[in-house]
Amino acid sequence: MNTILPHHPLESHPRTWQQDLQDLIKHPAELAELLALKTEQLCPEAAEQFEVRVTRHFVGLMEAGNPNDPLLLQVLPGLAETVETPGYSSEPLEETKQFTPLPGVIHKYQGRLLLMASNQCAINCRYCFRRHFPYQEHHLGRKQWLDAVDYIAHDESLSEVILSGGDPLTQSDKQLAWLASQLEQIPHIKRLRIHSRLPVVLPKRIDDKLLEWLSSERLQTSMVLHINHPQEISPELSQACKRLKDADVRLFNQSVLLKGINDRSDILAQLSEALFENHIQPYYLHQLDKVQGAAHFQVEDEKARQLYYQLRAKLPGYLVPLLTQEIPGKAAKTPLV
Ligand code: SF4
Repeated sequence: MNTILPHHPLESHPRTWQQDLQDLIKHPAELAELLALKTEQLCPEAAEQFEVRVTRHFVGLMEAGNPNDPLLLQVLPGLAETVETPGYSSEPLEETKQFTPLPGVIHKYQGRLLLMASNQCAINCRYCFRRHFPYQEHHLGRKQWLDAVDYIAHDESLSEVILSGGDPLTQSDKQLAWLASQLEQIPHIKRLRIHSRLPVVLPKRIDDKLLEWLSSERLQTSMVLHINHPQEISPELSQACKRLKDADVRLFNQSVLLKGINDRSDILAQLSEALFENHIQPYYLHQLDKVQGAAHFQVEDEKARQLYYQLRAKLPGYLVPLLTQEIPGKAAKTPLV
């Protein structure tokens, strides 16, 4: 763990999660300074294409002076991002072309629908498949949310709504509780799923107010976290997971297989063990979506399969996430084994 950056910089005056969200690190030079990195490792062109965003909590989990830290590599813009790679595109899943009946709504899979509840994240992951997504065209206020609720109410084949983004937990509890209250009035909606990286990068987001509305609603609620490396699991995240479990929120994790970050079976096995200790079920291990600017993170399919079989040999089956690839136009994720 980084000894330069205190884990709680203002411990005597604890800040709210909203204040922490306003105080993200957005300049590569600041990141380099905090972690004692050489400035020649920075690539301003890549940062212009996709801005740097990272919480101080997440930086506090990185090792100072280590340019290959697995958490740093997920957020530091690099020269490799500026290379155009054939076969990679700005919208690898073709979501906005095929599956968007309304702004901010992605209706792709049977029985469930994804609602973009926010257009920002607390962290910009360099490999994100939505790094070129036109969020400004999908801004959702109450009016658009009501249109989405109306769409959901008229489709009885739906039983689950997924709040995604951006990161839905960057929204206020007031807004989210209001949205959940609208959804729970729809009789055929039974489950609410929240996809978020906030508990990992800003664990204090899991506070009393959030837990209050989560535990008071009728819908069965689950949260799908996004953790790629065991180093991301902090004591604060452990505490947040315990509180979510106590509030009856089921926890799952999806990871992206990333070259140079988690493409080793010992790391993946350690991750699964740590997830389970924290009440989180390993769920998916995704092959990278082929988004332009992220080709250097790609792990070959054959190596991905080998890693999966090595994991199977090391762990009980319930700790082995499904290795999948999202293929545009397919009705579900495609298993790679
Ligand atoms: S949507 Fe998820 S993967 Fe993409 S930048 Fe936000 S937190 Fe990272």
